[in-house]
Amino acid sequence: MTKKIVLLAGDGIGPEIMTEAVKVLKAVSEKHKISFKFQEDFIGGCAIDEYGVPLANSTLEKCKAADAVLMGAVGGPKWDNLDSAIRPEKGLLKIRYEMGLYANLRPAILYPQLAEASTLKSEIVAGLDILIVRELTGGIYFGEPRGIRLLDNGERQGYNTYVYSESEIERIGRTAFEMARKRSGKVCSVDKANVLEATVLWREIIQSLAKEYPDVELSHMYVDNAAMQLVRAPKQFDVIVTGNMFGDILSDTAAMLTGSIGMLPSASLNAEGKGLYEPVHGSAPDIAGQNIANPLATILSAAMMLKYSLDEPEAAATIENAVGAVLDQGLRSADIYSEGATKATTSEMGDAVVAAVNNA
Ligand code: NAD
Repeated sequence: MTKKIVLLAGDGIGPEIMTEAVKVLKAVSEKHKISFKFQEDFIGGCAIDEYGVPLANSTLEKCKAADAVLMGAVGGPKWDNLDSAIRPEKGLLKIRYEMGLYANLRPAILYPQLAEASTLKSEIVAGLDILIVRELTGGIYFGEPRGIRLLDNGERQGYNTYVYSESEIERIGRTAFEMARKRSGKVCSVDKANVLEATVLWREIIQSLAKEYPDVELSHMYVDNAAMQLVRAPKQFDVIVTGNMFGDILSDTAAMLTGSIGMLPSASLNAEGKGLYEPVHGSAPDIAGQNIANPLATILSAAMMLKYSLDEPEAAATIENAVGAVLDQGLRSADIYSEGATKATTSEMGDAVVAAVNNA
């Protein structure tokens, strides 16, 4: 059956890295006899230029009808001074919300070949393989009431609301337990149950859910300790599940453990398993158009798409292994380059992954 994929390259380096990911998808389509139908459209700044809005309803409908969406990145200085209602990033928030993409999966994997790229000692991070499962459509980022109000004493006060319902906690918890089953079977739930009532409920729901997953080992950690443990002994973690704000912060910390933001993919899934796949990094306007961006995060996002939305785990593994093979050959884009390696452009990195897929 043909798999329909919407490609939203976006802004900055988006089109360059997307070109490489599509090359690789075409190579695995031949290798594994999978039929893809690609539909290109706009999101972010380029959509503002094309349609006047960062995500047109017609684009959204196309995404909802597809099996998966692969995205580059959005944003850039050209659109920085627009009214906040039509900023490029609003396109991303809209697609997440409208498609119900509540589960954000962010693997932080350190390829052994890149252990030196981390700011931490290589023995602390070599072989690191963590999956952060972040709740993406709830919590304090969306809670009401929110705003800035004027107090009786004339002083202004900013306020937000940290809210999670039982069903929201349960569905993200379920995602984490299911993911852990496919990995090494450990979930660490991160909260602040010593201070925040909303996370007392979080812990309670996760604990009761754990009874359905007796094969998965559950632990709990306060977020401040989790931040410390991530940089002290990150390899103790397998799957981390947490709310929107804590996940936002911890996943960036975990990203830095691996040395380069140019290597990290992500997936955002809804209840039907449909998803939006994108690199963790932004549109990198400082290097756009120079053919020097690292395309591997987008290529690895395409691998996640094959695994989680398109039910093609073998094709996903082919891509992941091909990326490993390219690193073994010593090829490095500028962001992961170190002495003794062979510096490669964006398209050379993509070509090398294609060659490794063909040789697999
Ligand atoms: P960024 O991730 O775009 O760039 C940070 C630094 O990392 C830059 O020096 C950049 O050159 C480098 N970098 C990023 N991706 C790289 C890659 N693949 N290869 C090599 N180097 C890479 O973050 P920023 O500079 O804070 O933001 C730039 C724009 O991207 C802004 O408009 C921001 O709003 C947007 N943004 C978008 C997303 C998204 O689309 N999901 C995420 C973050 C930022």
